[in-house]
Amino acid sequence: MRVVLVQGDITAEAVDAVVNAANSSLLGGGGVDGAIHRKGGPEILAACQDLRRSHYGKGLPTGQAVATTAGRLPARHVIHTVGPVWSRDEDRSELLASCYRESLRVADELGDRTVAFPAISTGIYGWPMADGARIAVETVRAARTEVEEVRFVLFDAAAYGAFEAAVGDDS
Ligand code: ADP
Repeated sequence: MRVVLVQGDITAEAVDAVVNAANSSLLGGGGVDGAIHRKGGPEILAACQDLRRSHYGKGLPTGQAVATTAGRLPARHVIHTVGPVWSRDEDRSELLASCYRESLRVADELGDRTVAFPAISTGIYGWPMADGARIAVETVRAARTEVEEVRFVLFDAAAYGAFEAAVGDDS
């Protein structure tokens, strides 16, 4: 698997699947989630509402992932995953790793070969960027998957630098 780093807006990525750092309601939020729904249009929200009704009455649990159409985005699918809120008292690393693993598993089910990830949990959910980057890179590199390219799409130079360090550390 190729791991590629990009600085920019994930909604512009022409990949098979864009991963959304969603919240468990699946009904939209700020950050990446807000940008995906704004640019992707109402088709994505409608698909999320259907999923709430059919499968996730109580919301999508933390660490799990589910796919919808990508609406007007250049991608084929959006894979929604719910990252853990960072905690000083409890180690939730395994839940964060699960987001990356489960998203790749869903991509495999769909036959998606190129997947763009944001830095899950490192925005509103408060995860320290360097640690979030380390978990992201380690987890995708260790995953058993048919996905050929993972693109980490980092919003700013600080996030890009953290992922650059994590890719270097791990190789
Ligand atoms: P979470 O609730 O999981 O923390 P956020 O969307 O708040 O999710 O933030 C996750 C990361 O995505 C943060 O590092 C944030 O800076 C970044 N981000 C926000 N908008 C975009 C975007 N359009 N493209 C790529 N990354 C983004």
